[in-house]
Amino acid sequence: MADFHEFYPLRRHNTFGFDVRARFAVHVRSEADLLAALADPRGHGLPLVVLGGGSNVVLTGDLEALVLLMEIPGYQIESDDQAWRVTAGAGENWNDLVGRTIADGLPGLENLALIPGTAGAAPIQNIGAYGVELRERFAGLRAYDRQTGTFVSLDLQQCEFGYRDSLFKQAGYGRYIITAVTLRLPRQWQPVLAYGELARELEANPAPDAAAIREAVIAIRSRKLPDPAQVGNAGSFFKNPLVSAGQRAALLQSNPDLVSYPQPDGSFKLAAGWLIDRCGFKGVSDGPVGVYGKQALVLVHHGGGTGAALLALAHRIADTVEARFGVRIEPEPVVL
Ligand SMILES: Cc1cc2nc3c(=O)[nH]c(=O)nc-3n(C[C@H](O)[C@H](O)[C@H](O)COP(=O)(O)OP(=O)(O)OC[C@H]3O[C@@H](n4cnc5c(N)ncnc54)[C@H](O)[C@@H]3O)c2cc1C
Repeated sequence: MADFHEFYPLRRHNTFGFDVRARFAVHVRSEADLLAALADPRGHGLPLVVLGGGSNVVLTGDLEALVLLMEIPGYQIESDDQAWRVTAGAGENWNDLVGRTIADGLPGLENLALIPGTAGAAPIQNIGAYGVELRERFAGLRAYDRQTGTFVSLDLQQCEFGYRDSLFKQAGYGRYIITAVTLRLPRQWQPVLAYGELARELEANPAPDAAAIREAVIAIRSRKLPDPAQVGNAGSFFKNPLVSAGQRAALLQSNPDLVSYPQPDGSFKLAAGWLIDRCGFKGVSDGPVGVYGKQALVLVHHGGGTGAALLALAHRIADTVEARFGVRIEPEPVVL
């Protein structure tokens, strides 16, 4: 029998720190634990919620649900003459995994250092930072398919990764419970320093190795982003919106300093933080929730607030941005 906890407090299982409870929660430390939890009659009829580190969710209230707390460990390395393959249990801390691979002499994940959460959640939104996305280092994953009741392997193509997007947020939403993720780290390592801020951080080091890049990424992120241990947040709250070249040109006429990045398909990614900042929201507080003073893209919870209040603020921001720029910004975290 699985170890069910009833009315389980989730405050320490979401980085916003919202004080909500799960009707039932189970610590899942193996695939056997997962099967036992799913078979337990106490959970039958309740919706299922899968939680890793809770660093990309907004919990809007108590969850009348069975919450699976994914804590499956595991770290294995295989290799061929082209690449190393690292398989991590879904519950492994992502940032620790990045550090461990680099310490083991397997470069490739350094740009993704200090992203909170678990390895098992990394494919959900195809995590990305400083010029690298998970999909560029991804080989495959193992998951429990709730539709067929079997464990399946999904490869890079099957996961349908996009910008902060994947199969798991689209057609496969709610269908798969990821138990392990395999990364492919080519032996022919190439540093990725295209991101201006990272290149500047490493100016004094003309040939940085993966460890130096990891340290630089950690230094930049520590300066820019609030530590969830100090103030509740889920990192960037909005995705950077994509616009056509025509839309961008029109926006540039009235906003010559518009921040945008060209995409391979000819469209442009606008900096959502810049749009929000221009609407005057940076540092604004609405009771216990607000917008981070150093980075308008980050919404914060100072304690004693609710996910619903945070979402109300998020809607107000998105409406204001749309009214002023004609562009709708969408939240990145999953609302539960
Ligand atoms: C300070 C800060 C900075 C951040 N910076 C970045 C960044 O630079 N780039 C970036 O991409 N993200 C960033 N994030 C967002 C977040 O860290 C990532 O999205 C991370 O992958 C979420 O992992 P998690 O374990 O906390 O997932 P959770 O928040 O627990 O879950 C997120 C979603 O994944 C699902 N899920 C989790 N585990 C599994 C599983 N094993 N199987 C199936 N579904 C699962 C959940 O149901 C939920 O829908 C940041 C967050 C914070 C707080």
